Amino acid sequence: MNNRIIPFIAGDGIGQEIMDATREVVDTAVENSSNGKKKVDWLEMFAGEKGYRKKGNYLPEETIAAIKKYKVAIKGPLTTPIGGGFRSLNVTLRQALDLYVCQRPVFWFEGLPSPHHSPEGIDVVIFRENTEDLYAGIEYEAGSPAHLQFMKAFQSNLKEDFKKLPSAPDCGIGIKPISKANSQRLVQAALHWAIGHNRKRVTLVHKGNIMKFTEGAFMQWGYELVETRFSEYAFTRHTFNEIAAAEGNDVAEEARKKNLDAGKIWVDDVIADVVFEQIITYPQQFDVIATTNLNGDYISDAAAALAGGVGISPGANINYRNGTALFEANHGSAQQIAGLNKANPSSLILSAAMMLEFMGWEEAAFLVRSGLKAAIKKKQVTFDLAAQIPAATVLTTQAFANQIIEEIQSEAK
Ligand code: NAD
Repeated sequence: MNNRIIPFIAGDGIGQEIMDATREVVDTAVENSSNGKKKVDWLEMFAGEKGYRKKGNYLPEETIAAIKKYKVAIKGPLTTPIGGGFRSLNVTLRQALDLYVCQRPVFWFEGLPSPHHSPEGIDVVIFRENTEDLYAGIEYEAGSPAHLQFMKAFQSNLKEDFKKLPSAPDCGIGIKPISKANSQRLVQAALHWAIGHNRKRVTLVHKGNIMKFTEGAFMQWGYELVETRFSEYAFTRHTFNEIAAAEGNDVAEEARKKNLDAGKIWVDDVIADVVFEQIITYPQQFDVIATTNLNGDYISDAAAALAGGVGISPGANINYRNGTALFEANHGSAQQIAGLNKANPSSLILSAAMMLEFMGWEEAAFLVRSGLKAAIKKKQVTFDLAAQIPAATVLTTQAFANQIIEEIQSEAK
């Protein structure tokens, strides 16, 4: 396919500026990587404030329909007012399209600021479950009619558990559903990706020591899936432990060595708080992480902080089963700097590179990344990066995009 229609949502705040910059960079990379034979036909769809202005709706049905139809789309940030019954448009979009994977790669390259003393080799891809957990939106406000109804049913049906609630009348309630099916499809996506990209380790991250039947179950179901369906490709910590318990540590170690030497992926699990410690002390040890929704939210930003921050780290929401994917900037709409032509478009540009790769346009993806890396290496950056890079030149959003375009054109020559 030489022309692809890609729906895009500019987004709120700085969205329009960073989306304009991203589209120009993508167009240049596609043209230069295909000698003008390929082209993206951009199709603007509306959501957020622009959706309300143009269509009288913050998330028009036709926007969701276009993403379903064309499968691959890209969006800028959308503002979510805090409180007041306004559901996050981002969460709504992910759920409406059943985009069950939130995929966030974090990688360091030369010139990128990092608080780490040796960020070389940081390259971790986080697969965060995107449809359930506390994000399912089942919450009862303390004292509300629904809360009182919930408490009444809880008290009369599960008396002993009800007694465990601290100050029952005024504690808000959130429900954390974690299902076997959704956990396993997430772990499967992470493992498939790891196999396809020659990765060596997939780590299931959970808080199962405290939440046994949600977080702990996520880990168990993950191991179960790997052992029953993917034992040809992976060897698990769980199997290792079983061998060790039955035949001793040396035998287990030998089995592990044999399986990993044969090229299998090591699938293990680490408790979420330990991951936060280890990702700071030794981030290079992590390769692919598969985790639940809330853990993934925190870990993605913590990991991103090691390699330029959320202003640069890309992301995507993907349904690997039906091939629908929505690529997006990871930061918010940054209203304070909206319209000033100073926002950093890197997160959206790198998300667009992920999108091109997902479409099978790898050469264009390569050019986008190498153009951006070259601009950063030359210290030609937007204000936020310049504040962290000594002797950097501060560029506007548009000038930064122009610099990347120049780098792409010279790389392609
Ligand atoms: P934010 O990311 O908009 O801003 C946090 C800080 O980072 C601000 O100082 C901002 O100026 C800066 N910043 C963010 N992006 C930048 C960029 N590209 N270049 C330079 N500086 C940048 O976070 P927030 O203020 O918490 O959120 C604002 C709104 O965005 C909220 O309504 C929030 O719900 C929404 N949001 C949307 C998404 C999304 O659409 N996926 C993600 C996060 C937040």
